[in-house]
Amino acid sequence: MVVFVLLGGVLIYAFVRISALSEDIGLLTTELASTTAALSQNADHIARNVTDLRSQTAGLSNTLSSAQQNIDAVNTKVGGVEQTVGSISGAVGSLQKLSQIDPELLKKYSKVSFLNENYLPARLVSIPKEYLYTETKPEQIIIEAWPFLNKLINAAKADGITLYVSSAYRSFGEQQSLKSLYTVVYGAGTANSFSADQGYSEHQLGTTIDLITTGIGGTLDGFDSTTSYPWLLANAYRYGFVLSYPKGNAYYVYEPWHWRFVGVKLATSLHNNGLQFYDMDQRAIDAYLINIFD
Ligand SMILES: [Zn+2]
Repeated sequence: MVVFVLLGGVLIYAFVRISALSEDIGLLTTELASTTAALSQNADHIARNVTDLRSQTAGLSNTLSSAQQNIDAVNTKVGGVEQTVGSISGAVGSLQKLSQIDPELLKKYSKVSFLNENYLPARLVSIPKEYLYTETKPEQIIIEAWPFLNKLINAAKADGITLYVSSAYRSFGEQQSLKSLYTVVYGAGTANSFSADQGYSEHQLGTTIDLITTGIGGTLDGFDSTTSYPWLLANAYRYGFVLSYPKGNAYYVYEPWHWRFVGVKLATSLHNNGLQFYDMDQRAIDAYLINIFD
């Protein structure tokens, strides 16, 4: 009997515990389900946020790259404007430089083109006496060409070649008197062959000189048989001087002593190409005007 009572008690206790456990399990299951649902909702929410962030980042990156493109475009425009300004100021500089150079300085004057009787070089300077053959006869040259002539004579001297200036700038009037004198002494035909009419002389430009050396009796004749002449043919271009009337030229009588300043650039080009100043087209010559004193 006792055994049955005990067994009954145990069974009741077990039933109560099982019921309680079963309830707990039910509660836990419900909790788990709701927690899982909540977590799942959170996960969805996070995923949506990540997607939103991604699309916002992409949008920002697009905005940045289009901003960079705009900056690039502005930079390109600024660069273009700078280049334009640069080339305009370059052109203005060239024009200013050119406007200060007498265009007559590179014109041909020998039965080709006439120099007005009123033409006067802008700035003449007296050649120092030690460079003159006749110290009592003053000679002038345009101020910009003097440093070149000075260097030429000094360079010749360093090579053992003695050069003096026999004649440099001659005004229209002086050339006229000289021609009249030659015409009276030699007759018009002869005078025409060696003395230019007034207005056709390169000497009126102030850039042209007659050079003379020692040992030939103070005359210009025979200058080409001295060592001075080949020295000048080989070196004068370095100082911007050219021989206007070489042997056999079609423009004027051969004058080995008569040298004209045309600028180092043009003289060098003529020398290197074996050309003569008067054989060049005037327009091609004029392109060198801007560099005549460089
Ligand atoms: Zn001359």
